[in-house]
Amino acid sequence: MASIIGIAISSSRWGRRWLVRDFTHHQSILGAWIAGNLVLIAAAGRHLLSRGESDAAAVVAIMAAISLLILCLSMLALQRRPQSNTRPRRFLAVGAHPDDVELACGATIAKLIDSGHEVRIVVMSQGESGGHAPRRIQEARHGARYLGAQSHTVHSFCDTRLSENSNLMVATIEEEIAAFEPDVVLTHSATDIHQDHEAVHRAVMRAGRRLPSILCFESPSVSKDFSPDFFVDVENYTDVKVEAIKLHADQRNKPYMTRTRIESMANFRGNQVKQQRAEGFEVMRLVSTTVGDF
Ligand SMILES: [Zn+2]
Repeated sequence: MASIIGIAISSSRWGRRWLVRDFTHHQSILGAWIAGNLVLIAAAGRHLLSRGESDAAAVVAIMAAISLLILCLSMLALQRRPQSNTRPRRFLAVGAHPDDVELACGATIAKLIDSGHEVRIVVMSQGESGGHAPRRIQEARHGARYLGAQSHTVHSFCDTRLSENSNLMVATIEEEIAAFEPDVVLTHSATDIHQDHEAVHRAVMRAGRRLPSILCFESPSVSKDFSPDFFVDVENYTDVKVEAIKLHADQRNKPYMTRTRIESMANFRGNQVKQQRAEGFEVMRLVSTTVGDF
């Protein structure tokens, strides 16, 4: 019974994402389900052979109950994503396009949220030049919700031409900052060669001129000049990032959307700081008390 539930959960898209988002060792959960039920099936078969078929219904009911118990115990025993009691900080992530934040720092955001911090994601354009805008807005909403962001907004500045509305963009980000009062802002790097990413970087630096901490994340379009000096250990969160990026199905044919590419980058940045996996950020400025524990 529990095996059937486990297989049903793991084979459905929703179920798989739930397992990945909530459990660090989700494959172990499935293994425990299946192993526990193999033992139960063997025990039930032996009992039926020795007692006759009249007890079959009772045995099945008992086995089902025990099986469900194994399911519950397995989930309780296995490691969930860590939760922290640190004083919550507010992180504002500002990206140019609907998939930018997940691609650049999706693992960090998931970890921040599990550590008790609050994250708001702001997207400046609907990505209409590179895909189907209504679909991308929907996917951005799903991605943010999957990571656990407390709020999410997609603005409608003209995709690929953000720099033409820089003053209005600055005013919009200023409003976001005034409303959310973030401790830390995450955004694109000045080394990014995508014109919209560069425009958002400049707009955030202007809008956030009074903020103590601004970090720049690593989009696939950064140049070789991107030089991180702040790293987040994301060993247990790369799978969450991969699933969040998969939600952006409109962009699935882009070469940087693959699991291999995402994991390779995490391994590369992790190796730089002697960790298994990491995401790197460039520090514009950083006050230690603003980031909290995560
Ligand atoms: Zn982008």
